[in-house]
Amino acid sequence: MFESLQGCAAIVTGATRGIGLGIAKRFAEAGIQVLVVSRDQADADRVAAQIGAGAIGFAADVSDAAACQAMADAAMERYGRIDILAANAGIFPAAALAEMSVAQFDHVLTTNVRSSFLCTQAVLPYMKAHQFGRIILTSSITGPVTGFPGWSHYGASKAAQLGFMRTAALEVARDGITINAVMPGNIRTEGLEGMGEDYQAQMAAAIPTGVLGEVADIANAALFFATREASFITGQGLIIDGGQVLPESAAALQ
Ligand code: NAP
Repeated sequence: MFESLQGCAAIVTGATRGIGLGIAKRFAEAGIQVLVVSRDQADADRVAAQIGAGAIGFAADVSDAAACQAMADAAMERYGRIDILAANAGIFPAAALAEMSVAQFDHVLTTNVRSSFLCTQAVLPYMKAHQFGRIILTSSITGPVTGFPGWSHYGASKAAQLGFMRTAALEVARDGITINAVMPGNIRTEGLEGMGEDYQAQMAAAIPTGVLGEVADIANAALFFATREASFITGQGLIIDGGQVLPESAAALQ
């Protein structure tokens, strides 16, 4: 149905766990060579070896401009092309608004939003040179659509990613480059498991389909955005949440 992505090259950030790992695996299954990025080189190497298909590990803190540039340069050096960027790395520590420090707020915004800007900016020259590129951000339902106590900084960061995306998509639209976002609901990842059993049970109960999402649910959507056939879709966010944002009240779930 879709033109093959065999031999394409992708950078996937936050690819050693959770959603990023799911995206990296799905891309590798489609024959895409993946630069597996996290801050931990050994972890990135381990995952690259596990997923195969020419994957290599690269350590970069995506909130750092020089590291993002080095990441894009490494992908070019290894693969000679960058077709796809999945800017997925993100953090979601909780802090009540009343007690939140400026440092906590800045850390979340820097890791989640500045990284979208830095990773995108680093790959653009290469994508423009080839007049082709697919950039996929991992946003969330939290912030753009919903709220959750303790996540005012996180929600702001995830909404900001979409604001960044819309203008960035316009600026590169004539260069064959699209920028879209996946907006996951509650997905079973190591990060989410860290929120505890109670949180996960509460979330599953709030999802019309009755279960948490799996990383493959997000990875499949990311793969679609990466295809050549998705060329007319840009600046869009796709909610993947089992219908979590739909109910008007608890009664709608009964
Ligand atoms: P996770 O399991 O905690 O994994 C996070 C990944 O990002 C790890 O590979 C981590 O590796 C990497 N990472 C963190 N900070 C980084 C940094 N500064 N530079 C480079 N890599 C970094 O997270 P997840 O649950 O899969 O979430 C991934 C993305 O999905 C995030 O953007 C999150 O906001 C979004 N999301 C998740 C859910 C969910 O239900 N899980 C829902 C909505 C949105 P190192 O720590 O080794 O660097």
